[in-house]
Amino acid sequence: APPPREHAPTEPGRTADGVLVQVMANIGHPSELRGLSPSACDGIGLFRTEYLVTSPRDFDDEDRQARYYSEVLAWAAGAPVTIRLFDFGGDKPLPRASVDPASYLGLRGIRLLLARPDILRVQVRALMRAAPYGNLQVLAPMVTSPDELAQTMEIFADEAEDLAMRGTAHGMPPLGIMLEVPAAALMPETFADAAFFSFGTNDLAQYLTAAARGEAAVSHLHEASTAATMRFLSHTVPAALATGKPVGLCGDLATEPSLLPELLSFGFRAFSMPPTRMALVRETLARMNADGSKAGS
Ligand code: PEP
Ligand code: MG
Repeated sequence: APPPREHAPTEPGRTADGVLVQVMANIGHPSELRGLSPSACDGIGLFRTEYLVTSPRDFDDEDRQARYYSEVLAWAAGAPVTIRLFDFGGDKPLPRASVDPASYLGLRGIRLLLARPDILRVQVRALMRAAPYGNLQVLAPMVTSPDELAQTMEIFADEAEDLAMRGTAHGMPPLGIMLEVPAAALMPETFADAAFFSFGTNDLAQYLTAAARGEAAVSHLHEASTAATMRFLSHTVPAALATGKPVGLCGDLATEPSLLPELLSFGFRAFSMPPTRMALVRETLARMNADGSKAGS
């Protein structure tokens, strides 16, 4: 059988009129990189770290986390790798922990990490120790207010100081935020300290429709709300781009070829998606211009 298309080495993603558009991979575990060539994508746009943790003991194992992060950075061979801080809560429950964050509107993502700095500090140290292995940037999930970003940055600075004091090799990765809570996505200019933005349309759709993810009885509302999510992006992406910071999209909407022209016209130049979708998205991009129009028409 021929090898899957997404494994073939290719040029960086670009449109017919030559504009570079990053097509990056979403992964949940380094094992998903087996058989995938780094030249098949423009880096890792989203590494969901929740799936690395299978027992509460894993939270304390800084070495184990640092090994996983370094492995992905080494695989990427200098291409950008965006690793997201633990996004437990809602559809990603915290394994057998004493807090129950199984709520989409409660303690989840960065809220939970700031309530459990013991968990956050170990992950931050592991990330900073892995940073010298490649081109790392870190992404904070479910950020709602600039204060949450400030608190997170303080923890990075704190742990960097401790690593330096101990003479442990480390780096300070740029810290960006997910724009997946509508209140944050509407106010990108208030996150002056964020290094970059990544729109998460899975959670945006959930919060725009007031319909929980993964709840079968209301899943039809997500499907029916794509137009509303696109309208929301048409208003918020230009404001995010106006900050001058890099802006990407890592939700499932990026995998839908029929939406790509409109997403490009909003100004997106970076998409991250499951590896199996990358080849189709690249091919689709190669047939359109950066303004979303069809090439050759
Ligand atoms: C999103 O919310 O769109 C996203 C990319 O993150 P996750 O699906 O992991 O919540
Ligand atoms: Mg999300």
